[in-house]
Amino acid sequence: METNFKIQDERYAKMVDQYSRYIKSPVLRLKFLQSALKTDAPQKWAWRIPFLGSIPERARLVLELSKVLPPDQPAPFSFRLASIVWRLRYVAYALCMAMILSIGAGLVYVTSKIIGRFSAATEAKEALHQPDADAPAQGEAVASIGSEAGLTLDKVWLAEEGEGYEFYSNGARILTEYQTDGAERSFYRFDMEANSSDQIMTRPVGIIYHLSEGDLLPFDDRYNSSLRGRSKSLLEYARDHRLYNYVIDRFGRTYRIVRDEQTANHAGNSVWSDSHNLYVNLSPSFIGICFEGRSDRKKTVGPDGINEAQIYAARVLTAVMRSKYRIEDANCVTHGLVSVNPANKLMGYHTDWVAGFPFEALGLANKYNHELLAVSRFGFNYDQTYISAAGGRRWAGLEKADAALKESSRRDSLAAERGRAERWEIYQRAYSKQHALDEARAKSE
Ligand SMILES: [Zn+2]
Repeated sequence: METNFKIQDERYAKMVDQYSRYIKSPVLRLKFLQSALKTDAPQKWAWRIPFLGSIPERARLVLELSKVLPPDQPAPFSFRLASIVWRLRYVAYALCMAMILSIGAGLVYVTSKIIGRFSAATEAKEALHQPDADAPAQGEAVASIGSEAGLTLDKVWLAEEGEGYEFYSNGARILTEYQTDGAERSFYRFDMEANSSDQIMTRPVGIIYHLSEGDLLPFDDRYNSSLRGRSKSLLEYARDHRLYNYVIDRFGRTYRIVRDEQTANHAGNSVWSDSHNLYVNLSPSFIGICFEGRSDRKKTVGPDGINEAQIYAARVLTAVMRSKYRIEDANCVTHGLVSVNPANKLMGYHTDWVAGFPFEALGLANKYNHELLAVSRFGFNYDQTYISAAGGRRWAGLEKADAALKESSRRDSLAAERGRAERWEIYQRAYSKQHALDEARAKSE
């Protein structure tokens, strides 16, 4: 502060000296100097503003000067300017104030933006940061990784196991706190060509993907605790009813429910064939993986639906299952493509993932392109409800099944009719054999 006063003193003295030069008479000049310097130098913040800040003092000096200057001498320009500004001083102050305020506000804005950028970068690590309303990255998708980095199935193994978790070499993290027991697996593998006798097996041969179909909250940190609560309820329900082998919650966390080697009640009446073998009622033969999510004809997959954290989790979990049990890609399929109702011979008793499953993102062949053998080989039909569940569009695999049926009836309509009965027969025989095993298992539980 002291320094400021000194600067102001100097500047005031300089100003007085400047004005005194207009007085030619040494006597009058001395008189002017004495009266001008009698007043203390102004000690106001306003002095920091060039010219305008010193207006009151300039005006006073002009007044003092006018007393000693001869009346015929024209006033210098700076005098006139000073006195004009003095008269308009309130307007001048207002303009100055406005200028200072807007510069100040600009500085505050710019500073806050800079600080905002820095702190956003650090706070992003914390789960509960407050979102910046106009941050440019809002809603922007994270760019995908170009991949030369894929791990083959032989590079997937259990790397670490501890209380409540298993970590795998491909990044899969399986949480085991909800793990429970189910019945031992036992199921038939039916040879499509009937070359060998039907085999009873106990290790899983495929994967079925499901959706939990509960109500979904928006995926937003404002709902964080509710999102966690919903996941917990789903996990408890799944555990209590032994519904799935795995549940992937909305944060992409993978939970084991029923142990891999045991049967979860996930598939119901169902049929799948990898074109060499036929499997019927797939709970004991297939691993059930459920995404916490909901069928939506427009957008099952998206930031508020099945998100990339869940897809990533499913990708690495699928690799773990395939590596561990030598599961073929051809047997990784969705519930909507395998679920049947034997009572009315219709496809799609359950329709979760009848469309829109991101097969490619999981490193799998797109089963929507594969001929739907339940229709073309095992006598099932489908209705408009099934098509509607898939968003109203028929998909390539369904078209292929239809084309195969049409082709056989074109050749011989009587043979086609007989063929349909034979196909149904194949399913019926397989169904009753598997059903007997399932009954025995239910009794043993
Ligand atoms: Zn399902």
